[in-house]
Amino acid sequence: MSDFDVIVTGAGPAGLSAACLLALDGRRVALVAREQGDASDPRTVALMQPSIRLLMHLGLWPGELKDATQPLRKLRLVDDTGSLFKAPTITFDPAELGDEAFGWNFPLGILIPALFARAGELGVTFTGADAASVHTASDSVSVTTAGGRRLTARVAIAADGRNSLLREAAGIRTNRWSYDQTALATSFDHSGPHDGISTEHHKTAGPFTTVPMPGNRSALVWMERPARAAELMALTDRELAAEIQIGTHGALGLVSHVGPRRLFPMQGLVARDFAKNRIILIGEAAHVVPPIGAQGLNMSLRDAAQAADLMEGEDDPGAPSIMADYDARRRRDVQPRQQVIDLMNRSLLSGFMALETGRAAGLTLLSQFGPLRRAVMQYGLAPSANLPRVMRPPQGSAPELIA
Ligand SMILES: Cc1cc2nc3c(=O)[nH]c(=O)nc-3n(C[C@H](O)[C@H](O)[C@H](O)COP(=O)(O)OP(=O)(O)OC[C@H]3O[C@@H](n4cnc5c(N)ncnc54)[C@H](O)[C@@H]3O)c2cc1C
Repeated sequence: MSDFDVIVTGAGPAGLSAACLLALDGRRVALVAREQGDASDPRTVALMQPSIRLLMHLGLWPGELKDATQPLRKLRLVDDTGSLFKAPTITFDPAELGDEAFGWNFPLGILIPALFARAGELGVTFTGADAASVHTASDSVSVTTAGGRRLTARVAIAADGRNSLLREAAGIRTNRWSYDQTALATSFDHSGPHDGISTEHHKTAGPFTTVPMPGNRSALVWMERPARAAELMALTDRELAAEIQIGTHGALGLVSHVGPRRLFPMQGLVARDFAKNRIILIGEAAHVVPPIGAQGLNMSLRDAAQAADLMEGEDDPGAPSIMADYDARRRRDVQPRQQVIDLMNRSLLSGFMALETGRAAGLTLLSQFGPLRRAVMQYGLAPSANLPRVMRPPQGSAPELIA
């Protein structure tokens, strides 16, 4: 007899969401982690409408979270490469899809504690210690924590990040690579309004993306060559504000009050199996992509919701048929997205004229051809027909999320 129905390892945003979803479905859930994910993380995450519906299902939206977030009313791509073949600026407007916003921008430092508190309310058992070892059998999974506690369940969800211990225990191999880039994440005040627009300036070392926050403040994800990123990290706040001013071309007015900053070396990772031997991979244990088009956590939340969907009402939530179904469904969603993001990123870094011309031609087509632009926007949000149950829009309603 298992102590739990499901063991979730890792209390980052993916693991916390999975734990909450499964507890809401009436499962006995153990969350194996030393502490909640890093609430001092300076990043914000743009969560699209399907992810917002998941938060609604968890009872976290609109609520208090909403005041700390900002609707994303438009996304703009600006060719800032200085290339001979300059692409036109493209603005993606959700009004073309009948929506008022693509989604909302959340500080991770607020989202993570909110999810952690909700998991507690839903009766999730929190171990307060990381997973130290894992054993898989034909009908169960056992996880022993660093504190020596042994837990057993029919299935485990690996949300323990890119160096996942559970992934290794399941015998799942990965394709893994690194980019010659580091992202600097921070936030800043500006004297002009952002009008709810997120702007991705495509520069030769990668995107420089501003994402609106409440008031006249924006988050920044600035991808640079590693040496340059280290230089930026060493600047004073005032010096960094001046560099950001240059990067934005003054479009947001005068830049000031730069917030805490952190560097993220850019890597890519895709697991060769998304589920195996009663272990299901979600979040960065399954896929790591550069922060382009706000796909990472949105995909992770679809992982969590898909796993919950497939387990719903099943006597054995770790049955081989569930493993196979999860693997097929998540592979279909994740792999093409990872490839598109990789191509977009490499087309900036390569300096090859053929790739630069291809990127400029593709963006020109997008700016001029409405049906193509709408198809790309819909794909970015994830097509409704393929979404897990709690992420689908209610029948016949479109802009239900704007208060
Ligand atoms: C600069 C930047 C900007 C981004 N912006 C966006 C965005 O706008 N929209 C978006 O959708 N995505 C975005 N992403 C991606 C998003 O931040 C990640 O997908 C997400 O944070 C990953 O969450 P996770 O829970 O999978 O992993 P993590 O946050 O890495 O959590 C894994 C957790 O597992 C724990 N752990 C590790 N080992 C063990 C163990 N043995 N036992 C128990 N626990 C363990 C770790 O301590 C950690 O808390 C961005 C990423 C970057 C780098």
